Amino acid sequence: MRIETLAVHAAQRPDPVTGAIAPPISLSTTFERDPSGDYPRGFEYSRDSNPNRAALEEAMALLEGGEAAAAFSSGMAAANAVFQALAPGDRVVAPNDAYMGVGKILREVFQPWGVDVVFVDMDDLAQVRAALDTPTRLVWIETPSNPLLRITDIAAVVALATASGAAVACDNTWCTPIFQRPLDLGVDLVVHATTKYIGGHHDILGGMVVAKSVTPLFKRIKEIQIQAGAVPSPFEAWLALRGIRTLPFRMRAHAEHAMALATFLAAHPAVEVVHYPGLATHPGHAVAARQMRAFGGMLSFQVRGGRDEAMAVAARVRLFTRATSLGGVESLIEHRASVEGPATKTPVNLLRVSVGLEHPEDLTADLDQALRG
Ligand code: PLP
Repeated sequence: MRIETLAVHAAQRPDPVTGAIAPPISLSTTFERDPSGDYPRGFEYSRDSNPNRAALEEAMALLEGGEAAAAFSSGMAAANAVFQALAPGDRVVAPNDAYMGVGKILREVFQPWGVDVVFVDMDDLAQVRAALDTPTRLVWIETPSNPLLRITDIAAVVALATASGAAVACDNTWCTPIFQRPLDLGVDLVVHATTKYIGGHHDILGGMVVAKSVTPLFKRIKEIQIQAGAVPSPFEAWLALRGIRTLPFRMRAHAEHAMALATFLAAHPAVEVVHYPGLATHPGHAVAARQMRAFGGMLSFQVRGGRDEAMAVAARVRLFTRATSLGGVESLIEHRASVEGPATKTPVNLLRVSVGLEHPEDLTADLDQALRG
């Protein structure tokens, strides 16, 4: 079955009680027990599971090609559960340019907790190979990276990790399974902020871990999900599942519009450089073309000049909204260095764009007037 069909039909069953096509939202926290003491309908208490969450997990596992999934209350709760499933003394190899929240919990929570974390440039396989000379439990990949859209060769990193006995997790938030299926490339766990493209409308927080197979590591993640309880509400699970129904078509439009904007910006005299893996000039283009179905809806560009010139461009946009986050229908623009704080390595003249579903000619016209000043 093709992914467009799967997105519509995954975990889609008319409600057995009413025949409703749109699933009901099950707000009950507790579920009836049989006289025998069993739970024949599979639900007991909503921290353990809930019909809306179960349907979302089933759909995400199908889309990513995994055996099982665990939904969380945010992308960071999902990432946190993966690291919490390790033990003090375990070693993690992670990218220098992982999403800043992931870098932060690795440094500020898990290193003090005794996890040994080594940061490398994941697009440099020599660095990955050297880091894996020491026994490692987990390699964390995020591709394209944020905000420079560096591309990690997933299959090559998996080969190095497998040779040294490490599991691999990949944050697939920016691509979604529509454009990239890391489990097919040998990754063990896919992690998502469903807050972004899966939800797709800037109105939910959510996270997901999808497992290629139900290993002891995934069983531990599932225990952490249930016992610690950082789970989505039924309504957020319902909205995320509804987002999945239109995901392939939204992703296609996000990527088409991003390509149009990247091409326009690359030729603009006020732009120093554009970071978008769809451009043939991008250093990761060949790897991206091999492992991604399309190049995604995120791009960044550096304005000629410095911080002030970049801030001035962001101040002049009319259609784009100056805001953090990504993946919704509205285009957003962000001066990333000022969000990341003084320790950031992000260039101060860089603006990150989440390209939305407005007409691309309206978007390029808006950026053009903002760049011209
Ligand atoms: N992973 C990536 C790639 C992200 O961009 C983000 C948020 O921007 C997260 C994880 C964290 O997601 P959340 O904000 O839902 O915790």
